[in-house]
Amino acid sequence: VKRVGLLITGNEVLFGKTRDTNGPHMAAALRKVGCEVRRSLVCGDDVEEILRALDYLFENCDVVLMTGGLGPTSDDLTAEIIARRFRLPLAFNDEAWAACVDAFARMGRSAVPETNRKQANLPVGCRLLPNPNGTAVGFSVSGELGDGQVSGQKTVYCLPGVPFEMEPMFAASVLPNLTPSGAVTFQRTWQVFGLGESAMQERVGELERTLQNDLPGIVVSYQAHAGYVTYGCFFSAPHSAAAVAAETLVDGAYAQGVEKAFGRHIVGRSELSLAASTISAFTEAGVTLAVAESCTGGALSKELTAIPRSSLCYLGGITTYANSWKEQFLGVSAETLQNRGAVSEATAAEMASGLLLRVNADVVLSITGVAGPGGGSDRTPVGTVCFGLAVRSARVDVQGLVSRLEGFKWGAPQEAPEAVGVCVSEGVTLLTTTVRFGSRLRRDVIQMRACVQALGTLAMVAESLSMEQR
Ligand code: ATP
Repeated sequence: VKRVGLLITGNEVLFGKTRDTNGPHMAAALRKVGCEVRRSLVCGDDVEEILRALDYLFENCDVVLMTGGLGPTSDDLTAEIIARRFRLPLAFNDEAWAACVDAFARMGRSAVPETNRKQANLPVGCRLLPNPNGTAVGFSVSGELGDGQVSGQKTVYCLPGVPFEMEPMFAASVLPNLTPSGAVTFQRTWQVFGLGESAMQERVGELERTLQNDLPGIVVSYQAHAGYVTYGCFFSAPHSAAAVAAETLVDGAYAQGVEKAFGRHIVGRSELSLAASTISAFTEAGVTLAVAESCTGGALSKELTAIPRSSLCYLGGITTYANSWKEQFLGVSAETLQNRGAVSEATAAEMASGLLLRVNADVVLSITGVAGPGGGSDRTPVGTVCFGLAVRSARVDVQGLVSRLEGFKWGAPQEAPEAVGVCVSEGVTLLTTTVRFGSRLRRDVIQMRACVQALGTLAMVAESLSMEQR
């Protein structure tokens, strides 16, 4: 198994202007194919720092993957640094230059700026890594390091910093070379909604200990998002027979234990995000979806439309911020707004049912709340968010869904006696709930958590759709 180190370069990454996505992208992919990622470092555009980082990485890694610093400007130092460390001369590389000229031609430009010639000055003997989306080719070098401190054959791959250039190059020219032959990896994933990490840990701690005893090397992980946790395990086996044995163990008592421990909190069993699993299940079931938002300002709609092919089931979202818009576009009654308030379960219910009837959707989710910092009252403090769910019963069997939602305080009579199971018209079931996220949270956090709460609910609807399909 190759031991790999990652070296992310660029002042803008070091100083926080750009968030590093290259490191996580490569680390996740390498791990999936069974590589051992040992270390990951971020360095500014500084020759000495990068040289020291390289040495540190090569101390216990066979391969280092570098991103950034391949461009034509004075802060692009990678080729020079690699030449120095591997004691190779730099020379003008005709093939790299041809690729650069070609890239300019693809952009419709025949003249290549003189400054770009720098990008073709590469260590002698390097292997080029084509870049279909940019002008800078990547390169790799293998050999003994020149300084005598770290011995043995080492390899470095140098890729551009721009993610949309780097990612396809990494997939095409790097990952296949590093994938251990014969190794088989697998993972199991559960999306868990409405249970905190520590509550989860309490429920499955014993199971995990047993699993790790039986299967040393298995990695259990908790990835917390705002409102849900991606839980799972990952295993890399040296050959397929070992993988099969390990899978049998994982899918047996362990998986059953996890299912029992998290129960109705499980809203997905794949790596798909809540939005993606919702879109996929709705599309498969032929059920249409629309949303009515207020305090989230369209964030829920944005999450749903970020999923490719969401148009197959998602009709759209309407953001009604002013009361007048809630009346005009969703048919919320002036009386409800006046007597119960814009942030109330009654309003959420009318928003959802109003939109459902207007656009003839099968499922509508509504959100109305106080995101703060102002606008709170004793009755509805900042952080109060009401949700409505209108479901056309002919398309969705709501029985299982309703009992599942009850467990999440949806439509619990003591909380929302006026709205539980109200039939607004034949065949439409309407449910509401109120969540208090806390008045001291920041506005954007309240908005994000409201959005995730809505996505979790939709994922539950999606779960009951797919159960029906099964
Ligand atoms: P270029 O030819 O564009 O100069 P390069 O290989 O020199 O490519 P950099 O100059 O280091 O790359 O980075 C170019 C841009 O790519 C950065 O301004 C930044 O927006 C983005 N970028 C660089 N590194 C990363 C990273 N680790 N994660 C996310 N984005 C990055």
